[in-house]
Amino acid sequence: MKVTQPFIQKIVIVGGGTAGWMAAATLGNIFKDSKDVEIELVESDEIGIIGVGEATIPPLITILEKLGIDLVDFIQNTQATFKLGIEFADWKALQHSYFHPFGTLGASIDGHDFYQCWFRTTQTDNTSELMDHSPEAQLAKLNRFFVPHQCINTPLAKTKFALHLDSALAGQYLRRFAEERGVKRTVGTVEHAISPNKQIISHITLSDGRKISADFFIDCTGFKGVLIEQSLNAGYEDWSDFLPCNKAVTVQTENTDTIRPYTLATAREAGWTWNIPLQHRTGNGYVYCDKFISDEQAMDTLFGCIEGKPINQPRVIPFSTGLRKQPWKGNCLSLGLAQGFLEPLESTAIHLVSRSLQLFVRMFPTKTPNGLLIDEFNRRLKQDYEEIRDFLILHYCTTERTDTEFWRWCQQMPLPESLKNKIDFFSLSGGIIPSVEELFQPTSWYSVFDGMGVRPQCANPTVNALDADKLALSLRAGSNAIRDAALKQPEHKHFIREYCQAEAPDKLM
Ligand code: FAD
Repeated sequence: MKVTQPFIQKIVIVGGGTAGWMAAATLGNIFKDSKDVEIELVESDEIGIIGVGEATIPPLITILEKLGIDLVDFIQNTQATFKLGIEFADWKALQHSYFHPFGTLGASIDGHDFYQCWFRTTQTDNTSELMDHSPEAQLAKLNRFFVPHQCINTPLAKTKFALHLDSALAGQYLRRFAEERGVKRTVGTVEHAISPNKQIISHITLSDGRKISADFFIDCTGFKGVLIEQSLNAGYEDWSDFLPCNKAVTVQTENTDTIRPYTLATAREAGWTWNIPLQHRTGNGYVYCDKFISDEQAMDTLFGCIEGKPINQPRVIPFSTGLRKQPWKGNCLSLGLAQGFLEPLESTAIHLVSRSLQLFVRMFPTKTPNGLLIDEFNRRLKQDYEEIRDFLILHYCTTERTDTEFWRWCQQMPLPESLKNKIDFFSLSGGIIPSVEELFQPTSWYSVFDGMGVRPQCANPTVNALDADKLALSLRAGSNAIRDAALKQPEHKHFIREYCQAEAPDKLM
């Protein structure tokens, strides 16, 4: 078919936070050998970046690989540590905790889903903990990390991991990467995005009077959405009825002796706190709902639970959970905080930036906006957000806590139909059937269901054909093999020292 539409020749990205530089790195890499497409990133030196966003999930590793970025170099330049999953403390009940690992749990047996087989063994005296079958959970429990070349042909071979990183340093790293691939950086504050018809942006004007035109704009200006909202009025779908936390207070601390290879998320009186160890410091924050506690109370709670000495001033960040009604409108795509926000309980924001970029590249437009591509992009992105939203709600709505008003509210909270269906389906069938491109695969759902004490009504009748005692013995052998392999691995801290220790922060660019 002959293409008659004119191609995009110039893309302007506004905003130099993680989202902006991820977009610049991705598109800069794609067009590095093209003389026809120019990419310019405009960032303000008056408006700072959000400066949080330190926990990631495994797709980040794939993205770095695709960009050809050396993992060790990235880790050393971003003060990163490894993350095998998340420990959720006090969510089901006080003094109770569970682990949500990356990777998979066990392997299917005679075509039966592993979870079903394990559930069958809970009817015997020889059952095991579900997490005994996760390499990531066992490594995390032992505070170990793995040496990949020593783990080939062991039960740890498929261990999945992500990183805890310094988001400001990650932005700088991606900036260098993008600039090396021809992305032009302009410093300036956008005052207006000019769109006479509220559909197409013709150009932006900077506070010093400069005008910048482009065929396509990417709005990475943070919560304000200077282009997508202030100029194009794309609208915002608010989900705070489902996820009421609307503020976070954050503070950084000196590291303590242990560097956990996982994120710690502890439920508190009106939300939850995070603890994210990096090589040079630890990030801490309390995500809360201000209808239940004040900012001062939140700050007191945060300071009451941090482990090391604070090294910066605490900061309160308000947010509103939801998604732009039209994340891509006309010739403008929004990314990062300008696109939407889901609380960082499962560390999904940076992933959503790269997922948006993947979708965008698959639907790359020509100069004339095409409604079909835009609608498909917006529909798929909404599905992604809804899937993550539902998974986040699951952590709250299954609580047994009644000790504060917030947790009592969670027990009665409204649920989206999509989540209700998933919970009912699991309860009846003991299974989860995800769509192909869903981020959270069954392991994630099983981990949270099990951690929160939600079990199916009965095992799937087909697994009754298996001998439960033999099955339990075989599962036990599998979990022992994982544990033996995990015990041979170094402590997380020692692994980092050996393989990817970063320089002291003042020596980094
Ligand atoms: P920002 O970092 O705010 O960058 C905005 C950029 O736009 C800046 O460069 C600014 O100078 C520029 N700008 C703004 N206005 C203008 C203008 N008028 N003209 C020119 N430039 C302008 N994500 C995770 O993946 N994991 C986490 O653990 C995590 N934790 C989080 C915790 C909290 C409390 C919050 C609020 C977010 C968290 N996130 C997390 C989300 C993550 O921080 C963001 O998705 C990520 O940093 C991307 O931010 P951004 O680039 O969209 O915006």
